[in-house]
Amino acid sequence: MDKIKMTTPLVEMDGDEMTRILWNMIKEELIQPFVELKTEYYDLGLENRDRTGDQVTVDAAEATKKYGVAVKCATITPNAARMDEYHLKEMWKSPNGTIRALLDGTVFRAPVLVKGIEPYVKTWKKPITLARHAYGDVYKASEMAIPGPGKVELLYTAEDGSTRSELLHQFKGAGIVQGMHNLDSSIESFARSCFQFALDTRQDLWFAAKDTISKKYDHHFKDVFEEVYEKEYKARFTEAGITYFYTLIDDAIARVIKSEGGFIWACKNYDGDVMSDMVATAFGSLAMMTSVLVSPQGYYEYEAAHGTVQRHYYQHLKGEETSTNPIATIFAWTGAFRKRGELDRLPELMRFADLLEQASLETIESGRMTKDLALITELTEVTVMNSGEFIRAIRSELEKLLG
Ligand code: NAP
Ligand code: MG
Repeated sequence: MDKIKMTTPLVEMDGDEMTRILWNMIKEELIQPFVELKTEYYDLGLENRDRTGDQVTVDAAEATKKYGVAVKCATITPNAARMDEYHLKEMWKSPNGTIRALLDGTVFRAPVLVKGIEPYVKTWKKPITLARHAYGDVYKASEMAIPGPGKVELLYTAEDGSTRSELLHQFKGAGIVQGMHNLDSSIESFARSCFQFALDTRQDLWFAAKDTISKKYDHHFKDVFEEVYEKEYKARFTEAGITYFYTLIDDAIARVIKSEGGFIWACKNYDGDVMSDMVATAFGSLAMMTSVLVSPQGYYEYEAAHGTVQRHYYQHLKGEETSTNPIATIFAWTGAFRKRGELDRLPELMRFADLLEQASLETIESGRMTKDLALITELTEVTVMNSGEFIRAIRSELEKLLG
């Protein structure tokens, strides 16, 4: 069989620990035998980030702007323990944070559904994609403990020196205050990324906030979404046969639980933080959650939602077999291939992405799976495999499908 051709390279961002091991296995067993793989390789492993003063992360993000599509392995975000473990020059920032800031993107997370791993919510039949705004609000807030009686005000001083103030609270005793902000530019980018992704995936878009209580702050989010929608997307949504609607967050939560799934749920920063954990857990497993960063300009970076699976990596270093689930990382590659195929008009590459996903799911549905899934599956005849065995089982399914 001739290998499938690519025209534009994918930006390939390698990573750390157990996922770096899986990365190689996936390439060797599931990609390179079938695709004439073209990538521009960036090693985002922690050693190389340290060696390059984290320049490699910036270069990888810039390459994503140049080519449009990237696929990323999970990476370590250093903390104090990692400083010692890797003898780091600096406590480098989260690569995901750096890339997100450079691409001005929004992260969309969606579960991979498979027969035998049932969502806890009975009505959910299709994936729910969660889009979380990744700037501001309580994550960039200023807070103060108020020791006793006194007045707290919000004060704005314009560049010309003129001021506006708003009484926050007249304290009669001790208490606490918090001030937070957001930016029109960031909310607009978030809205555009959401509308763009809804069009790309032909799914309805829901956005919810608490505008009834937060009449200026949350209401402003609602207004920005409405304005961007009316001006730039309404006609395209109608054409695509999809809808956008805003609702109160309380109502959204009730509707999400009663829904069938199959839509995008856009959330403000805090709501998205909390609700993404709820949605991921309710769908079954973090190891089955994919993630894509979409910039308002239409750059895409695909990855798994989980981390580098450190505990398994230490077992691996001791020479023990691990049963780490590669599905989310495989789906990062298939997402990237499908998008590359769509942009470059390569139907063969898009078909390969579909078949690799199908082979992966059919392997699980046949009862062959990694340990994390074996613990939660409703299938009764189950073979627990280590990562290598599982990936090779997927390969044999893929070979059958490719005929
Ligand atoms: P993790 O990699 O998400 O793993 C936490 C636990 O979840 C694992 O110990 C394992 O449970 C289970 N798990 C996650 N993915 C799995 C998979 N594919 N197959 C089977 N089980 C899986 O989080 P962590 O180990 O706490 O973090 C390790 C590193 O990842 C940290 O340095 C963190 O900075 C980084 N991180 C990176 C990203 C990213 O690059 N996007 C995201 C999050 C975290 P059991 O141990 O019970 O088997
Ligand atoms: Mg969280």
